[in-house]
Amino acid sequence: MYELYCKFRDKKGYKDSDVSKMTGIPASTFSDWKSGRSKPNTEKLSKIADVLDTMIEYFDAPKGMLTTCPDCGLTYVSTEKKDINKHEKLHSAWQDAEKKFGTIYGNYPIREKIKARNRNISDNKSRSLEEKCNAELEVLRCLFSRSIEATGYDLKHVTYEEYVAMMLANPTYGPCLDTDVFEKLKSKFGTLPGIDSGTYYHIPDECPQPIAAHRDGEDFTPEELQKIEEYKRLLIAARPKE
Ligand SMILES: [Zn+2]
Repeated sequence: MYELYCKFRDKKGYKDSDVSKMTGIPASTFSDWKSGRSKPNTEKLSKIADVLDTMIEYFDAPKGMLTTCPDCGLTYVSTEKKDINKHEKLHSAWQDAEKKFGTIYGNYPIREKIKARNRNISDNKSRSLEEKCNAELEVLRCLFSRSIEATGYDLKHVTYEEYVAMMLANPTYGPCLDTDVFEKLKSKFGTLPGIDSGTYYHIPDECPQPIAAHRDGEDFTPEELQKIEEYKRLLIAARPKE
C-alpha cells in the first residue's frame, strides 16, 4: 500500500514533506507508514489521494480482486494470466504513447477529477487569463487522453498540439470558451479541421503506403520522412467529410 502511494507521489514529483505540507498531515504519519508501524486512517488517506489526483482505492488493491491500472486505465483480474498479459500489452502501448505525446491520463476516475477541478478554474471569471488558459489546457489534456485511450494508445493519433488546434475549430467546443481564453489559445495553437463534433479524433482508416521519396538522387533522412508522414496525416485529416 505504501509502495502504491509512492508511485503516485513520484509521478507528481513530490516528496513526503511536500504531501505533508499540502495535506497538513504530520510527517511522522508518513514515516510510520513507510516503516509499517501504522497506516494512515481513511480521512488522511482521502486527503492524500486528493492532492495526488488519485482515488483512495488505488492505495489498497487486494490480491485476486479486480484492479484498475492507475496509468493505462485498464480494469482487469490481477490473478488471471490472460488478463495480466492483456494488461502488459496495453500498458506498454500507454508508455510508448506517453513518450511520444506527453502526459496521458488513462485512468477514467482520475481524469474526471482533474478535468472537473480545472474546469472550475477556467470558468471562474475572477481568475487571471493565464490561470484560465492553463486550466483549459489541462481540460484539453484530459479530453486528449480520452481520445487517444479510445484508439488503444495508437501512435498514429494526432499530437496534443494538433488536437488542441482541432478542438478550437470544433463548433461544439471553441465557441463555448470565454472569448479571451479562446483568442489566447488560438494565437498559440492556431486552428485545424479534423474534429467536427464530440471530442474524439478518428484515425483515418486508409493509410496510404509510404511513397518512394527522393531528392536529387539522394534518399530523405529518417527525420524528413517522418515529417512527410506527419504532413500526410494532417492533409488526410483535413479532407472534407463526405
Ligand atoms: Zn497499466
